Amino acid sequence: MGCDGGTIPKRDELVKTKKKPEQKDKTADLDAKWKHCAITQEPLRQPIMACELGRLYNKEAVLEFLIDRSKFECASSFEHLKGLKDLKELKLTENKGYGRPKSEKGDSYIDTQDAKYICPVVGITMNGKHGFSYIWSCGCVLSDRALKEVKSDICHKCGSQFSKDDVITLNGTEEEVERLHQRMRTRKEQARLAKKAKKHKAESTDTETKTTDVKKARTEKTGTKALSKEAAGGPKDKIPTLKSIQKDPSASTVYKSLFTSSNKARNQQSAHWVTYNPFYN
Ligand SMILES: [Zn+2]
Repeated sequence: MGCDGGTIPKRDELVKTKKKPEQKDKTADLDAKWKHCAITQEPLRQPIMACELGRLYNKEAVLEFLIDRSKFECASSFEHLKGLKDLKELKLTENKGYGRPKSEKGDSYIDTQDAKYICPVVGITMNGKHGFSYIWSCGCVLSDRALKEVKSDICHKCGSQFSKDDVITLNGTEEEVERLHQRMRTRKEQARLAKKAKKHKAESTDTETKTTDVKKARTEKTGTKALSKEAAGGPKDKIPTLKSIQKDPSASTVYKSLFTSSNKARNQQSAHWVTYNPFYN
């Protein structure tokens, strides 16, 4: 081993002892990440959600957390969760072989039964040994292999369209998480700007509507005035027939109303039994 006064220890001799526990931790770590809620460490059960950094949660725990985060000691690790809009409910594919006795036929994969969920395209299990991602826009979970092999922007689980930027690696490496952090910041900034723009637009539309309303009201008012002017007889010299009867001071209103030149007759929309007007029949 070295350090006994004679030999100089090699580096791998010194770090060797560290390797084995690390391996063990890795399996436990994978299990914790892929089969347990990131907040409560309870086993994952549907409905399951994922955040933009690719961590998995029980929806129930997320709701509790969002209501009162002070109850959770780990709250500082989940500061990026401000509301349900920061998470997505996952559409997972159940592994029908899960929980069945292993290798009845002897030809099944060793890992076909070890995870509750599988990739709907290539059938590998979501046990942490294979990369899996979900699509932010639709929430479907697919294996990275499927996403890589099938070069399409149509989700193979639900058929909706997605962009490459919408793919979020579940429990990714540090670099991947860093990339997702960046993506999250960008999305939040865009959402903030969009909200601001929307608010601004709503305000200006509001003013516009008000202006239009005023204009409309004005037009209506003027319109009413014009109408009432007409109803009152209007500029009489424009209608020559008025000269004879309608202007006759000795004729009664009833008498005047018998003629098509009268205001009443001019405004009428249908035939009258006395002032029969062929225009309205
Ligand atoms: Zn989908």
